[in-house]
Amino acid sequence: DNGDPRMPPFEYVPPAYDGPRPSLFHFYKKPLNIVDGKMQYLFDESGRRYLDAFGGIATVCCGHCHPDVIEAIINQTKRLQHSTVVYLNHAISDFAEALASKLPGDLKVVFFTNSGTEANELALMIARIYTGCHDVISLRNSYHGNAAGTMGATAQSNWKFNIVQSGVHHALNPDQYRGVFGADGEKYANDVKRLSSTALLGMWRPSSLKPSRFGVGGIQELAPGYLPAVYKSVKQAGGLCIADEVQCGFARIGNHFWGFEAHGVVPDIVTMAKGIGNGIPVGAVVTTPEIAQVLARRSYFNTFGGNPVCTAGGLAVLRVLEKEKLQENAFLVGSFLKDRLRHLQEKHDIIGDVRGMGLMLGVELVTDREAKTPAKAETLQVMDQMKEMGVLVGKGGFHGNVFRITPPLCITKEDAELLVHAMDLALTKL
Ligand code: PMP
Repeated sequence: DNGDPRMPPFEYVPPAYDGPRPSLFHFYKKPLNIVDGKMQYLFDESGRRYLDAFGGIATVCCGHCHPDVIEAIINQTKRLQHSTVVYLNHAISDFAEALASKLPGDLKVVFFTNSGTEANELALMIARIYTGCHDVISLRNSYHGNAAGTMGATAQSNWKFNIVQSGVHHALNPDQYRGVFGADGEKYANDVKRLSSTALLGMWRPSSLKPSRFGVGGIQELAPGYLPAVYKSVKQAGGLCIADEVQCGFARIGNHFWGFEAHGVVPDIVTMAKGIGNGIPVGAVVTTPEIAQVLARRSYFNTFGGNPVCTAGGLAVLRVLEKEKLQENAFLVGSFLKDRLRHLQEKHDIIGDVRGMGLMLGVELVTDREAKTPAKAETLQVMDQMKEMGVLVGKGGFHGNVFRITPPLCITKEDAELLVHAMDLALTKL
């Protein structure tokens, strides 16, 4: 939890189990069968259109089946789908170069992976080898992936399988809405200062201040001043700072391309996935030449990571972002949408908080604004109603009471109006 004594203890209620299907879950009373996607819209098997305000969990950045991305993938598929890490190929190096050009300072060495989990696993391994220290500090309510190391670093109630990982420390969550220290980032950062006297590695979700935030954890914005203070103590202790940009990076927050930029910090390692492929399985770790050299101590490789089909797609995504000015659109439509959601908050007491930046927004529902009692059942009900009205939003947060709004970055103000109307109607019906 976030250390707030007013909060009831978290109770995990496992979903009703009625058969052998442990990995299948869905949001809606009547599950959706999605068969087509076009830009910001999804279509079910009957041809009904939905506004996709979840974007495959912040993954579809330039729009479903964007023609430029499809074309790049088809062309590369016809030429060369796969070779092996021991040969060179321009589709790979061109994307690596383009990615590195978007990052500051010495962050210029790129390793490709197939997912965010793999990217974070690799980042952790690099950091551990570089520092010679096994310890990792991550945040409570964070999600970093589902393999051994990243699940160890993960501390998000719903997605936490309790596997034992030695040396992982979960620091106090600098949650401005529910946290004990409110918006005082430096107070939360003291927790990390204490931890880093014993632990030497820092794994940080970049989000925070105003822009960055947790995705799965409920689009939380880290309290102002938190990240610079944390970077300082981790660096002083000889650790490395890893920015997990898997969800908030790649133009989504609008005013910056990367979440960490909004905090004025420069990480030692940056991990990314989701949006960088617009739905194609590709992830990346970017670090400095000095840190990257630790991988030269043995032969590092990843069979499919950096597959030319995926990297050709990734490069096309980057070009579309620039050509269609999607970062600016994320800023403009995102600010408009946030403003409209804030108006909705004035009308509906159940909206406890509206937060986030660009097109990564969160709306937290509470049955009592003072006590901040999570309105879990109502969240599900509103989500279901919105789906019936043709609008799909995500859900997350420690208590499962936060709408996650992370649409493709090409949505328009009209789409944003539609979303707000649907939410308004569904809340009114409660
Ligand atoms: N880090 C963050 C911040 C994420 O949101 C996710 C996915 N929700 C991951 C890592 C893991 O990425 P993947 O699902 O591609 O393994």
